[in-house]
Amino acid sequence: MLFLRSFMILVLSCIAIKINLCFPNILSSLKTLPIDGHFNFEQLHHAAKDFGNRYSFLPLAVLHPNSVSDIATTVKHIWQMGPGSDLTVAARGHGHSLQGQAQAHGGIVINMKSLQGLKMQFHIGNLPYVDVSGGELWINILREGLKHGLAPKSWTDYLHLTVGGTLSNAGISGQAFRHGPQISNVHQLEVVTGKGEVVTCSGKQNSDLFHGVLGGLGQFGIITRARISLEPAPEMVKWIRVLYTDFATFIRDQEELISGESTFDYVEGFVIINRTGLLNNWRSSFNPQDPVQASKFKSDGRTLFCLELAKYFNRDETAVVNREIHSSLSQLNHIPSTLFVSEVPYIEFLDRVHISEIKLRSKGLWEVPHPWLNLLVPRSKIQTFAQQVFGNILKDTSNGPILIYPVNKSKWDNRTSVVTPDEDVFYLVAFLSSAVPSSTGTDGLDHILIQNKRILEFCEIARLGVKQYLPHYSTQGEWKAHFGSRWEVFVRRKSSYDPLAILAPGQRI
Ligand code: FAD
Repeated sequence: MLFLRSFMILVLSCIAIKINLCFPNILSSLKTLPIDGHFNFEQLHHAAKDFGNRYSFLPLAVLHPNSVSDIATTVKHIWQMGPGSDLTVAARGHGHSLQGQAQAHGGIVINMKSLQGLKMQFHIGNLPYVDVSGGELWINILREGLKHGLAPKSWTDYLHLTVGGTLSNAGISGQAFRHGPQISNVHQLEVVTGKGEVVTCSGKQNSDLFHGVLGGLGQFGIITRARISLEPAPEMVKWIRVLYTDFATFIRDQEELISGESTFDYVEGFVIINRTGLLNNWRSSFNPQDPVQASKFKSDGRTLFCLELAKYFNRDETAVVNREIHSSLSQLNHIPSTLFVSEVPYIEFLDRVHISEIKLRSKGLWEVPHPWLNLLVPRSKIQTFAQQVFGNILKDTSNGPILIYPVNKSKWDNRTSVVTPDEDVFYLVAFLSSAVPSSTGTDGLDHILIQNKRILEFCEIARLGVKQYLPHYSTQGEWKAHFGSRWEVFVRRKSSYDPLAILAPGQRI
């Protein structure tokens, strides 16, 4: 034990000495780089924070690039310093990672939002698309797109995330069953590799890099530009919620809806465990179709499953759309009295989480720890999963929403880096918990982390074939198991595009 301790102290002192010796050289070399933007070497705390609010690694510097060439020059400089420098680079989108994935301990963080200035270019025609900066926020693309009557097809539930950040993961929401995740809706990328090369890539040109970067957790290159597929934007959205007490009926309806062509444009769902008075919370935005019947409905602390649907339309199609919705809803098996409907402009529907963000921020409840857990569960195992997790492990859903909805694997491209279960349909189950700082109760961080651990352990022991989304692991063995048969492709791509492992060190792969 003593030997081990002395050895660790020796190793740590050597690292400290090395950093201290190299430090002035690195700093002065960065200062002389010919770039249009600038480096910050002080007040770097912002770059050591993220939405998860649990991990904090201070970088050496933050680059605010003005151009793609600023990023390429910086990465190339580090690449040319060779393996001895140990310097790493993390692209930081909007910093909405959960466990420090966009941070770089003692390295360089690139503030991708500085690149936002690059003008969005809309191409209008039969197959419209937009060219955007990798640091662009999806909400800005929506706002600009609406001026042309266009919008991306596939979204995340929250739009204040960057293009580069979500394309490095997948970008999943209620439209994914039809259009695939956001990574299935990109035609072309411009990428800066770990050698500092600027490469344009697509399904036809440098396709291995293109597919590698999509869902690639920032490991193979920094996305500086993306060409995103668009469709005509609708004006309005019918937003519908219906409730179930029986899980099997709930998922049967969800799966039926995602297999049909002309039903809804968005299919999600969530779980409600041991909550009373919930429907009162919805009343401000959702109207019960039959107020008298709805007022008689009592949840009585039962576990409920809420199916959430949306249908897009233009105002002049209201009558037709109402008939279509009526017909689609008549095929469902929800509790009849629990049909709740809302009608909102398209932008309000897509930007819905931001409205909650504003409310939570005003109460100081946004910048709290977020021990989120996102899982992709194969369809054949979702009942076993639900029985144990919603029936035994979780006692209530008061720490945050639990989303659950299926997607079609046929809409995902298996050449990309993202790892999904091996079945035609799989579910996203997202435990979106917020912890009350310094609480030691059931709303505290420790309790929620233990619950997450129990869920993961159950999936492992029951061999459910579950994959983590926004994955986070502590050992390389776990990463290997995550990638499974795709580990070799991952290693080959890493050695081709980022052989010195400079990029996205916060993923800890
Ligand atoms: P960051 O957190 O800054 O970066 C994420 C990772 O990508 C890091 O490793 C970073 O180094 C790397 N990276 C960042 N920019 C680039 C780039 N240009 N090139 C290469 N690598 C880059 N996800 C969904 O799929 N669906 C959802 O519905 C959804 N809802 C969310 C709601 C909220 C409130 C939050 C906070 C997150 C949500 N997410 C969702 C997760 C989101 O996709 C991830 O947090 C993702 O990390 C995007 O955040 P960001 O743009 O801030 O990227």
